[in-house]
Amino acid sequence: MTRLAASGLKVSRGGRWILQSVSVEAQRGEFIAVLGPNGAGKSTLLSVLAGLLKPEEGRVLLDGQPVAGIAPRLLARRRAFLPQNPRCDWPLPVERLVALGLTPSLPAFGGFTAEDGARIELALAACDLLEHRQQSATTLSGGELSRAMLARALVGDPDLLIIDEPLTGLDPRHALDAARRLGRLAREQGKLVIAAVHDLNLALRHATRIWALRDGRLLADGPAATTLNAALLREVYDVTGCVAGEGAQAYVDYA
Ligand code: ADP
Ligand code: MG
Repeated sequence: MTRLAASGLKVSRGGRWILQSVSVEAQRGEFIAVLGPNGAGKSTLLSVLAGLLKPEEGRVLLDGQPVAGIAPRLLARRRAFLPQNPRCDWPLPVERLVALGLTPSLPAFGGFTAEDGARIELALAACDLLEHRQQSATTLSGGELSRAMLARALVGDPDLLIIDEPLTGLDPRHALDAARRLGRLAREQGKLVIAAVHDLNLALRHATRIWALRDGRLLADGPAATTLNAALLREVYDVTGCVAGEGAQAYVDYA
């Protein structure tokens, strides 16, 4: 099924509210782009939705069950979480790093099965990493490491993907590839993808919905094509701009 429902989320840090009564709902087949300026609360919201940060108030339900009550291994099998600016300090070959994404579903003993190997191969290919598979992850460029981490998140075939800025730092082709892939995962495989995104054009064209945050509040929640407009750009980002074009040709233009 995959249905995520969060209500009345409140989180405070350093004496101020960084999430203020945020309520959101999402279900399988959606690719939600979480928008908002730096410090808006995007990463905080994603951590709470992933069940990694306990809010002071409010709750998150995954298919009707509080995420806080789901056994960690079970939760890790169902949802992948990819933090902002992931690091890898171990000189692991890229294919081993990607294989770590299978950990929640592996038995305690024994090696990888042929099926595991095929999954790793698919994830490497999907993220354009086949030629880097033997390279130490510590020597990858920033964008390559982001792709490797995305492959690690995808390899376990989770129903729910919560990804913090997966497109940031990628060159145009790989950012486009990644945005298309996230769109396809939602549309064709029924995954629920929730990703913080700064590239508004990619959000506009590939996300099915946007959540716009500012100062810990949810200012907008709706289909990207109808929700992202000049008023929202001003309200959320303090920029003057407009959304031009239609459908797959739509783009954000800044004045
Ligand atoms: P975003 O991902 O949208 O850039 P974050 O969720 O990372 O925003 O952070 C939201 C706000 O909370 C920011 O202003 C950040 O400085 C603040 N914040 C996060 N963690 C702490 C902390 N431990 N102490 C004080 N402020 C914090
Ligand atoms: Mg962030």
